[in-house]
Amino acid sequence: MPSRLPEYRRLLTTALDHGYRVISVEAWARLLGQPLVPPAGKLMIMRHDVDTDAALTLKWSEIERDTGVGASYFYRQSTMDGPVIEAVMRAGFHVSYHFEEVADVAKERRLGSAEAISRHMSEIQQRFGRNLDAMRARFGLSGRIVCSHGDWLNRRVGVRNLELLRDPTFRQQVGVDYETYDEALMTPLNGYYTDTQPPSYWRRSGSPFDAIRDGITPIGVLTHPRQWQPNFASNTAETWRRISEGLAYRGAA
Ligand SMILES: [Zn+2]
Repeated sequence: MPSRLPEYRRLLTTALDHGYRVISVEAWARLLGQPLVPPAGKLMIMRHDVDTDAALTLKWSEIERDTGVGASYFYRQSTMDGPVIEAVMRAGFHVSYHFEEVADVAKERRLGSAEAISRHMSEIQQRFGRNLDAMRARFGLSGRIVCSHGDWLNRRVGVRNLELLRDPTFRQQVGVDYETYDEALMTPLNGYYTDTQPPSYWRRSGSPFDAIRDGITPIGVLTHPRQWQPNFASNTAETWRRISEGLAYRGAA
């Protein structure tokens, strides 16, 4: 698979040529926080979930800086690469936490059902709070908007990581204003586009290029590094990680 970074640049320039502003999730939340002022002009909200290949985000952010757009980058524990994150923040981009403590604790404790997870929810929440605070302290970021990762474990037990933020009191305690899948952020979007493996490149919702052509606004775009560059080593490592985690978890109750 060839690198699709030129295609990413083309997506941004196509949006700009059609009069879109490309902004971060943080900027989107700020706009929505002012209900008396409807968002002006056409908007594309750009979110990157950094599941693998943290280094690729340097290339994305270079393209974004070149074209003068905003974006949000959400890093997992496994992609929390200090120099990369510092560089992306220095370039002016919104950075925050791509969290998965429901899956982490479920794997460690071999929790095999929604009920078992709910019994461990306060431990899961405490771990999330500690991890978020550690990221805030390490990088000097606000972490008021966070983003739930989707893991094989979550699909297996049918509990999403964002369940840990269901309780508004807990949210307040940890200083989280929004999770990226909150209705407050998602419902006002008139289109939402997620990348996927070749040869289709975009999920069933279709391509953002078509949305731009049709002038749909506001639209959200979600991308993941592994779909945009050939990286055999990290994709293979990720596959092995899933297999070994699955074996360790086998037979959980
Ligand atoms: Zn993810």
